[in-house]
Amino acid sequence: MAIGAEEVKRILLQMVKVIEENKVYLTELDAAIGDNDHGINMNKGFKFAEEKLLAMENAGISDMIKTVAMGLLSHVGGSAGPLYGTLFLKASGASKEKNEINLLDFCKMLREGIDGVKMRGKSDRGEKTMLDVLIPVLQSLEQSADEGENAKSAFEKALNAAKEGVAFTKTIKATKGRASYLGDRSIGHIDPGAMSSCLLVSAIYEML
Ligand code: ADP
Ligand code: MG
Repeated sequence: MAIGAEEVKRILLQMVKVIEENKVYLTELDAAIGDNDHGINMNKGFKFAEEKLLAMENAGISDMIKTVAMGLLSHVGGSAGPLYGTLFLKASGASKEKNEINLLDFCKMLREGIDGVKMRGKSDRGEKTMLDVLIPVLQSLEQSADEGENAKSAFEKALNAAKEGVAFTKTIKATKGRASYLGDRSIGHIDPGAMSSCLLVSAIYEML
């Protein structure tokens, strides 16, 4: 792998685009088991980040990721904004001083990001949240890195793991977030945050 700042910027802008394109869908998923705002929330934070990103010239990788984090942390209400903000902020911290990132670097960034989400959300895999996508994605990428796979095929597998994670959320009961108020009635619905995480992985895959 080893991608530089320009590619990272393209990936981040693709994330903005994918979230915008799926804003209505993500909100519909949230209407079923939450409060009908996930796509609106995500789009708001990412659009704010987009404006800042487009104004950045020759910025470093870590700084651009931090810009996305700040957009999500400071402009999105609800729980997903601060949680995704934490994910990006930790990933930014883990990429400090890097002029390019390879698959192992990315794994470290995602691992630290996930740890941040777990801590802030007091949550883990199996609770019907974004973690049911992010954790299997990390495991898949780590295995690919171990096996010396190239980035494209690593992210192809990771995207499959993400889709499986999304499907898994449909089968389980939410024990974190608003959907947990529904108890067993949350079963049978896809978690909106799991879907947005899957979309972010697809944005990376599409740009590789
Ligand atoms: P809110 O629930 O405050 O309206 P959003 O609708 O934007 O916020 O986001 C909901 C998503 O946030 C959920 O689908 C879930 O994936 C994620 N989420 C909620 N609480 C947690 C948590 N404690 N840990 C991890 N993810 C969470
Ligand atoms: Mg919501």
